[in-house]
Amino acid sequence: MTKQTSRMTAGYFCEDCEVSIWPAAPRSELAWLKDRIHVVREVAKHSQGGLDIWMADGLAFLEEHRDHSVLVVTKS
Ligand SMILES: [Zn+2]
Repeated sequence: MTKQTSRMTAGYFCEDCEVSIWPAAPRSELAWLKDRIHVVREVAKHSQGGLDIWMADGLAFLEEHRDHSVLVVTKS
């Protein structure tokens, strides 16, 4: 487990569906994943169970809402 430096909870919010998820990862990590979704998708294909849980969850959400407007959001 890595120490979380931020007390803010970060997540993804889909504006089209008005649903959100809150993976256990800091905002910077979620923004990173969102920016590199095409890279992470390829990595996921070749590594079975190799992704962190938050990354697998985030990837699943981003795939499900691929053509939607997904934002990285925070709540305290
Ligand atoms: Zn959506």
